[in-house]
Amino acid sequence: MGHGDDIMATGMAKGAKDRGKRIAFGDGQKIIWGPWSAEVFKNNPNVAPPGQERAPDIEWIRYHKGHRLYNKQGPGRWIWNYDFRPTPGEFFHLDDSFKDLGPNLIFVEPNVPNKPCGPNKQWPVDRFKEVADELKDAGFDVVQPEYGAKNVVARQIRTTSFRQGVQLLRKARLAILPEGGLHHAAAALGIPAIVLFGAWIPPKVLGYDMHTNLADDNPGCGLFIRCQHCVDAMNKISVNFVLDAVERSL
Ligand SMILES: [Zn+2]
Repeated sequence: MGHGDDIMATGMAKGAKDRGKRIAFGDGQKIIWGPWSAEVFKNNPNVAPPGQERAPDIEWIRYHKGHRLYNKQGPGRWIWNYDFRPTPGEFFHLDDSFKDLGPNLIFVEPNVPNKPCGPNKQWPVDRFKEVADELKDAGFDVVQPEYGAKNVVARQIRTTSFRQGVQLLRKARLAILPEGGLHHAAAALGIPAIVLFGAWIPPKVLGYDMHTNLADDNPGCGLFIRCQHCVDAMNKISVNFVLDAVERSL
């Protein structure tokens, strides 16, 4: 995962500054940030940046790439830690880049990361499109962030960074998302979301109670590569099922 890991970290760090502390994410010796950490942690007073290892207000959390607390590597698949629950994270000082957008916004993201396990997290794109069209016909302003991703199902709004995508998400009254960075962002912002979990990751481990998490009866496959069982589980989630979830959430 990418941004989602860092957003979950901001949930773990919540309130540290109020206790006179800053959280060092790393191995206890070295602060280890990933490629998206600086963007997600921007302006966050609870998190200490690399180089601050010896500062007097440091409190360590052993959470970094290769040691994520919510899973561990098994043979060919992730083993999920069912004792883990994420706390909604936080963003600090987001810009108001999209202030002209109206109150009737629904944010959709039909794209998943282009990784070997990606298909396991992909709800069929034509169904995303059907849902987006229905909601548009019902009078909603359905939008998706434009950043060069291939699947387009709704009006695109240009975003130049993940943080800008989060700013757009903040304007939404509801989001329809795959499991990933944006569902963690929605939780951080308090935005209601329909999250298409399927069978790969259990919502018990990485979901939020405030969201509607659509998952297989027995999720948690975690296979590193495309898995037919996970693809089938996604195919079992119908357009009407998602539309019903949207109706209940609005
Ligand atoms: Zn599977």
